[in-house]
Amino acid sequence: MEKLTNEFLEELVTECRPYSRDGEVVKDIPGQSPADQNKLGVCMIDLNNNVYSAGDTDMRFTIQSASKIVSLMMALDDFGKDEVFQNVGMEPMGDFYNSISHLESHDVKKPFNPMVNAGAIAVSAMIKGKNLDDKFQRILKRLRQITHNNSLKINEDVYESEKLKGDRNRSLAYFMKSTGAIAHDIEESLDLYFRINSIEVTTADLAKIGAFFANGGRSLKTGEQLIPMDHINTIEAIMMTSGMYNEAGKYAVEVGFPIKSGVSGCIVGSVPGRLGIGIIGPAINKKGNSTAGGELLQRISRHLDLNIFSVI
Ligand code: GLU
Repeated sequence: MEKLTNEFLEELVTECRPYSRDGEVVKDIPGQSPADQNKLGVCMIDLNNNVYSAGDTDMRFTIQSASKIVSLMMALDDFGKDEVFQNVGMEPMGDFYNSISHLESHDVKKPFNPMVNAGAIAVSAMIKGKNLDDKFQRILKRLRQITHNNSLKINEDVYESEKLKGDRNRSLAYFMKSTGAIAHDIEESLDLYFRINSIEVTTADLAKIGAFFANGGRSLKTGEQLIPMDHINTIEAIMMTSGMYNEAGKYAVEVGFPIKSGVSGCIVGSVPGRLGIGIIGPAINKKGNSTAGGELLQRISRHLDLNIFSVI
């Protein structure tokens, strides 16, 4: 087993950068450009707060679908497991992340799981708050507490663009309204979903979210139990089975710990009891996952022996 050092991570980043040629940067996210094609950065934080990083860790990017684990955490904390999973399933889905057809074919007419767009919109609809602003501020406050980053905020340009180009997500939401899968205010639920997707982060912020999960929902700074461990276990299990969309099976086999991707090319990873990982590699494949980031994760897991199934 290799030793985790910045130099070791730098070597892996250099090896994995060429894999970005297999993907493409999403052009309609403001601030992202084809010039980012070869970027790749990683930050890892262990439970003693030791930080290791390599590559393009100075990048700021929007959290996109990696936020789905945050929305699920908020809803679980607000309502508990039984109530949340009355509105969304917990089964993996073989379709693309923004699939609408599954909403019609699924027996119970609820989205497959909270890691796909329809499921995340249904989960966002549940989050408590006096009004839209209050709901979003509760989420931001919690994220700032977890990342110890008080400057965490929304990227307004990305938020405007998510709203402008969000017709696919609107379709999902209104379809769910028509079947009764969502009973909440649709426009407000969508607006909250767009805002959560538009939070700007760094690989260090993502690594802290992963480390917080790895620490069973306890603050890495104070040791305070912020979210019940039971909820964290639920989220991590769903990340494992659905966090990489229709490549989740491959990553469960090749990486072997819970991860969640976003179309900005980011990935959050959490190795229970050990560490958190944040990755950015903006070139993504058709399934929505960073190509170089995915390769990097596989190598990190293999070299550092992080697969949770290999513990004896
Ligand atoms: N903002 C994107 C959407 O809602 C996020 C998708 C993703 O990151 O996978 O479609």
